[in-house]
Amino acid sequence: MIARVALPIPRAAPFDYEVPPHLSVAVGDRVWVPFGTRHVWGIVVGVADEPTFAGRLLPVEATTGPSLPASTLDLIKQISDLSFVGLGLALARLAPPPSRARAREVELALPPDTAVRISATLASRAPAQARVIIAIGEGVTGAAELRQLPGGGRAMGTLLHKGILRPRRLPFSYQEEEKTITLNSAQRAAVEAIQAGIGSGKKYLVFGPPGSGKTEVYLRSVAEGLARAKTSLLLAPEVSLLPQLWARAGRVLGSPPETYFGELPPGERWRTWHGALRGEVRCAVGTRSAVFLPLRDLGLVALDEEGEPAYKQEDMAPYYHARAVAELRAAREGPAVVLGAAAPAVETFYRATQGELELLSLPDRVVGARPTVSVAPRGDAVIGPILQEAIHRHLGKRGQVLLFLNRLGFYTGAVCRCRSILRCPDCEIPLVFHLADRALHCHTCGKAVRDLRCPSCGEDRFHLFGVGTERVEHEARRLFPSATVARLDADTVRDRDRILCAVAKGKIQILVGAQMVGKGLDFPGISLVGIVNADQLLSTPDFRAGERTYQLIAGAAGRAGRGERPGEVVVQSDQPGYYAIRSALEADYAAFYAEELGYRESLRYPPFARLVRMIATGRDAEAKAGALAEDLLGRRFEVLGPARLFPRRGIPRAQLLVRGRGDVVDRLAEALPQPPSWLKVDPDPMWLG
Ligand code: ADP
Ligand code: ZN
Repeated sequence: MIARVALPIPRAAPFDYEVPPHLSVAVGDRVWVPFGTRHVWGIVVGVADEPTFAGRLLPVEATTGPSLPASTLDLIKQISDLSFVGLGLALARLAPPPSRARAREVELALPPDTAVRISATLASRAPAQARVIIAIGEGVTGAAELRQLPGGGRAMGTLLHKGILRPRRLPFSYQEEEKTITLNSAQRAAVEAIQAGIGSGKKYLVFGPPGSGKTEVYLRSVAEGLARAKTSLLLAPEVSLLPQLWARAGRVLGSPPETYFGELPPGERWRTWHGALRGEVRCAVGTRSAVFLPLRDLGLVALDEEGEPAYKQEDMAPYYHARAVAELRAAREGPAVVLGAAAPAVETFYRATQGELELLSLPDRVVGARPTVSVAPRGDAVIGPILQEAIHRHLGKRGQVLLFLNRLGFYTGAVCRCRSILRCPDCEIPLVFHLADRALHCHTCGKAVRDLRCPSCGEDRFHLFGVGTERVEHEARRLFPSATVARLDADTVRDRDRILCAVAKGKIQILVGAQMVGKGLDFPGISLVGIVNADQLLSTPDFRAGERTYQLIAGAAGRAGRGERPGEVVVQSDQPGYYAIRSALEADYAAFYAEELGYRESLRYPPFARLVRMIATGRDAEAKAGALAEDLLGRRFEVLGPARLFPRRGIPRAQLLVRGRGDVVDRLAEALPQPPSWLKVDPDPMWLG
């Protein structure tokens, strides 16, 4: 027998291997095979009697049980085709390898009174085991601490083996207060509509302002699906939104859902994947990669904040948008796809107006009232006088404050006396000063430079300018010395769980945050949101700049006044009349959409055309992109560019954009059956330039 094996090698077709008589393999199995001078794991994508390869075949050397059902294999195959990436590489990156979970925390697998009885019987025979059980009874759950007890490491291993202990399954410490919620009529209608779509692959857009109860709609739909033995997937665009979603889902479903996201240790990722394969996972929450989880009897996939660009994986192959994958699954497996947003992607809203998605509107906030919104000039101060006054007022009334800025670092730029802006020598993007290590950082390659000289004039003293989250935190501490201030951004993710818990408990008065805190989070204590710089995105040369600006402001503003206290939002902007800012201030998505759609149509951007981004990398990137452009033009493609991009880690890059109709990706696949290795092909890009 011959196994066709997809190997994790870019753009390679599957390889033939001989299956020795003592092994049996099936499609979806993982196999260990020789490749050149190495050995690698691959996935069996086909079996045959006759090889397609004429040379001598090497043998499969080992195999592990099924890791991929046929439906998941097909799905990943489709994604690899759509993103012009080899199947083996796509499989290696999307299907986790078997891996053992290391217990970082353990818990008793038995009721406490049974455990007490067991520890009593163990006390003389195996005192170390008894000690471990008693310590856990006293609340010690960390594996590291338990190992410190005399004989603790071995005892813990034995108890895990005997099934008296188990690895603690709670991935987050976040807890949700018990509450009983009676859905309002719009929510009930939405849940009913979604119920009707389970099994038929119908798609919905749940559209409502922040706090209108969208999340509650997904959760109830999951619960209804469970009652009909259907499984569900709940996706959020960022890990920081998972603890709350996970806790809320646990409350509505009665037991905590499983989790799946990139940062999860491999063993735990495998546990969720394997549980899904065996039909044991009923509901999973995760970020974009969770959309591939092989849940059985999938009834529903929900994407909260569906307009968030983080749903698209575009920094690493295979390139995919979780929404598109969910819709592929809907067509194959029939789950209802529920997209939720206060500010949907323009493309999504357009599809809803065209009848491709059923629009389910939740017009009103369920808790609190719409916050009052005012605009303040940005000026020179980081926190201007109007925002300062508002912070004073809210802190005085024991409200919590969120200060939002989507930029990391302290100063976001450095300029030399000779007027050169300091840039990363490898990536050419401006360097950002971080206070934590007093160094200039490149946010593209991560390099930190301390002893920099201006490449133009050799000077080593620079003028630092611009405002990042560190500087906002610093200013907040200076201006409000008696308030507890915390910062949550990519530089403090390690403390995320702790910070979110402290905010929930009211222990933090001022939270400074980037990106993630502007979305989804539901903290009733936050009464004031200050948007430190609303103008920041306007200068980016991207056709989605308006959409991003609207989403950012509307999202951040939506964090205010989710509890009893009336909410207030202060937006620092020097261009409040710009349509994306004006409509966001008025929370008027319809007005934004109307203006934006006209602009997209006149310039022929999505949804009125489809774009494919191609990036050539390497020494002659521009020349190669130019030659490719000529070739494609000759085949009657519409090509924009080539345009030179900033290099990455010193490697030159150039971009082409191909524009066409819905069939442009298929046409390209015909024109470029084997894209060269220096070319990245990314359909429907989220970021340009
Ligand atoms: P969204 O996802 O639209 O921002 P959520 O579902 O998070 O809205 O709801 C906002 C808050 O209101 C949450 O704390 C939620 O528990 C609560 N909530 C949702 N629906 C109701 C309801 N029908 N009655 C009372 N509270 C509700
Ligand atoms: Zn760099």
